[in-house]
Amino acid sequence: MYSIDFFHNKNLTDSKEIVNVIAKKLNIPSSTIKNVSIEKKSLDARKKKDIKWFYRVNFECTKTLKRGVKRVIPEKVPSLIIKGLQNKKVVIVGMGPCGIFACLRLAMNGAKCIIIERGSKIEERIRDVKTFFTTRTLNEESNIQFGEGGAGTFSDGKLTTRTKSPYHSFVFDEFIKAGAPEEIRYLSNPHIGTDKLRVVIKNLRNKLLSLGVEIYFNERFEKLILDKDRNVRGIITSTREIFCDSVILATGYSARDTYEILYEQGVFMEPKGFAMGFRMELPQKKIDEIQYGKVSKSLPPAEFFLNCHFKDKGLSVYTFCMCPGGIIVPACSKKGFLVLNGMSYYKRSGFFGNSAVVISLNPEIWGKSIFGGLELQKKVELDSFVAGGRDYTAPAVTTKDFIEERVSTSLRKASYPFGVKPFPIWEIFKEWKDFFKKAIIDFDRKMKGIISEDVLLLASETRTSTPIRIKRGEDGMSVNTKNLYPCGEGAGYAGGIVTSAVDGLKIVEKII
Ligand SMILES: Cc1cc2nc3c(=O)[nH]c(=O)nc-3n(C[C@H](O)[C@H](O)[C@H](O)COP(=O)(O)OP(=O)(O)OC[C@H]3O[C@@H](n4cnc5c(N)ncnc54)[C@H](O)[C@@H]3O)c2cc1C
Repeated sequence: MYSIDFFHNKNLTDSKEIVNVIAKKLNIPSSTIKNVSIEKKSLDARKKKDIKWFYRVNFECTKTLKRGVKRVIPEKVPSLIIKGLQNKKVVIVGMGPCGIFACLRLAMNGAKCIIIERGSKIEERIRDVKTFFTTRTLNEESNIQFGEGGAGTFSDGKLTTRTKSPYHSFVFDEFIKAGAPEEIRYLSNPHIGTDKLRVVIKNLRNKLLSLGVEIYFNERFEKLILDKDRNVRGIITSTREIFCDSVILATGYSARDTYEILYEQGVFMEPKGFAMGFRMELPQKKIDEIQYGKVSKSLPPAEFFLNCHFKDKGLSVYTFCMCPGGIIVPACSKKGFLVLNGMSYYKRSGFFGNSAVVISLNPEIWGKSIFGGLELQKKVELDSFVAGGRDYTAPAVTTKDFIEERVSTSLRKASYPFGVKPFPIWEIFKEWKDFFKKAIIDFDRKMKGIISEDVLLLASETRTSTPIRIKRGEDGMSVNTKNLYPCGEGAGYAGGIVTSAVDGLKIVEKII
């Protein structure tokens, strides 16, 4: 197989077009080029006057090629086959990406799997989220955090990850088979969008069912069944007892009650750093103009990533989880606590773009107590709820007013479904106010236009990752509780959809 790198000013979507470009570049007939597949595709917008696409394409050729190409051997995908799981009965708590992929691998290898998910199946969950958006009545068990598909289902479905794992291709393939766009395989910043993701999740559920998995929705894990040597023998849920060989705990970062249950049962945990701050929203047109120097229908809605590092303090303020053409959503799972996040549809065609602006916090800040980080999150979420008027309206300020510590007299309309209310939101983050101010000034230097009346900061974004790690050993089990496999984002071993899914796939290797 050959590989060729090239730049092109057009967004090539058709394989025929790609074949013609390669044929022209190598001066060979296009009929000699076979089995074309894009390995990488990214937009290079460093020179605004010469924005182009980079392509790395693999192909076969009936002629022997010597120049302008590299010979490549297709990457070996690791085998997902594991022997010795046939007679195992495994309970998986949580049906987010981690639980789904752990279960998929277990079931493919013949294990008997039972999924326990506190939230509803996707069809009902969509209705529950809609009810919240229209009536401000939150269902604490079925919402943007809880339910089939996990926390990322009502998101942008970004699949970017800084980690490299041979399991990525398996995760992407399964998403594609379940209905995600083919391009996620090669785009540098792939995303699925909440609309397509909802279909993907339903198809993954059907695949699990076809493999004999039992799935129980609206059922909450409430306790471990432990013997006197701290071996897990099963679990107690909100409706029954289930005995099993192993429990995979994939409950995500919002299941605060679950952390408390585990703590009471003596499961070892430790504090972990996390980040929190605001959601920033800009008109998408403005982002495109800043990043591309123009607005163009042929270019995808632009993204950005900004970072301001405070070396002497060992912390950073950075943008995170950008949703081009998306909306800001209330990602609440407890009444009276306001937490924001972002969501986009596949087309990313909304009027605004949003991104978290967060500060990294380490456990020294809260005296390293296990629940200190969680308490801090709760305090900020409660303060934000109260500041917004106790009805999930988001307290907000323009970046211009934030810098000058002035309450905004009027705010433009935001994408957030419950609206915004002027509030001095720096008061919610008193200790870190100056870091945020300096960072925003720095961001404006890097992306002129960030400090403006049409750029809003909404409070608050607290759940970027978990502030607690449920520590596991080399054998994948909790360090002091046998047969318990803490996994994914909630256990502190992953961050985001892809790494959580990969963590789920990998933990299965430990179960034999
Ligand atoms: C609005 C939003 C947007 C996001 N956008 C992105 C993005 O674009 N890209 C990205 O990579 N990441 C994104 N994330 C983060 C991403 O969703 C998480 O990193 C990922 O879902 C973690 O996977 P997980 O399986 O470990 O946990 P989760 O997805 O949180 O799943 C945990 C599941 O466990 C269930 N559960 C919890 N407690 C119990 C219990 N006691 N009993 C039974 N079930 C229980 C929950 O209901 C939930 O379904 C976003 C998150 C949110 C909230």
